[in-house]
Amino acid sequence: MLKIENVQKSFGKKHVLQGISTTFPEHKTTVIVGPSGSGKTTLLRSLDLLVQPDQGTLEIGSLRVNFANPIDKKMKNELRDQTSMVFQNWNLFPNLTILQNITVAPIYVQKVNKNEADQQARALLDEVGLADYADVYPHELSGGQQQRISICRALAVKPQYILLDEPTSALDPEMETQVLKMLEKLSSDGQSMIMVTHNMQFAKEAADKILFLEDGQLQFDGSCADFFANPSARVTDFLQGIS
Ligand code: ATP
Repeated sequence: MLKIENVQKSFGKKHVLQGISTTFPEHKTTVIVGPSGSGKTTLLRSLDLLVQPDQGTLEIGSLRVNFANPIDKKMKNELRDQTSMVFQNWNLFPNLTILQNITVAPIYVQKVNKNEADQQARALLDEVGLADYADVYPHELSGGQQQRISICRALAVKPQYILLDEPTSALDPEMETQVLKMLEKLSSDGQSMIMVTHNMQFAKEAADKILFLEDGQLQFDGSCADFFANPSARVTDFLQGIS
């Protein structure tokens, strides 16, 4: 279980996260929604220390991080072994093959033996139907394929949670469908996921838990079923605004 308490972050005078406390259940999909600028990306990035909050704590397994203290590289790596980020624009290394992109963190960060890392990467590629692309370079793949590879790359470090920041926002609808199908399968296979998205259809189908963030505060923290079945007036406005 990943748990955060009283997470606060300001950029200059802007108080972007105003004391967020919640839990992210294991083997479940938690989706973070809310209006533009409400702090969703900042909250997600806090969970693997791409952003360091000013205050608050995070607990995962035996690891406890106090954001108010300086955080060294060892602690960052320990956390990132358990929370692995997938970016909007996939960020694959252009000069490495697909296989090398997937194995770079296991080999160089986690010190996994190269043969073992290669084998695991090929198995992941096989699972997502991209085994034939192991030895090609990213530019030879479509955006949707590159995003599926970047999800494999996140999974390759065997994190407890994968974190996804609007993973389909840079894709056209056909590519988006490919990626969402992969994510729905991972979700139903019990991979723990935390995802920022504007895609409410995906949220409805795949989320177990929904966090609705507005002005840096959680306005809803509960089950997906409740969010859609008993929306507050504010949630109704939000849902109507984006449909
Ligand atoms: P969107 O849905 O538009 O992506 P969001 O809910 O993910 O928005 P954030 O990206 O977390 O929102 O941004 C929240 C606020 O914090 C915004 O006002 C943004 O301009 C500001 N912000 C985010 N990162 C930084 C930064 N590195 N420096 C200064 N301000 C920032």
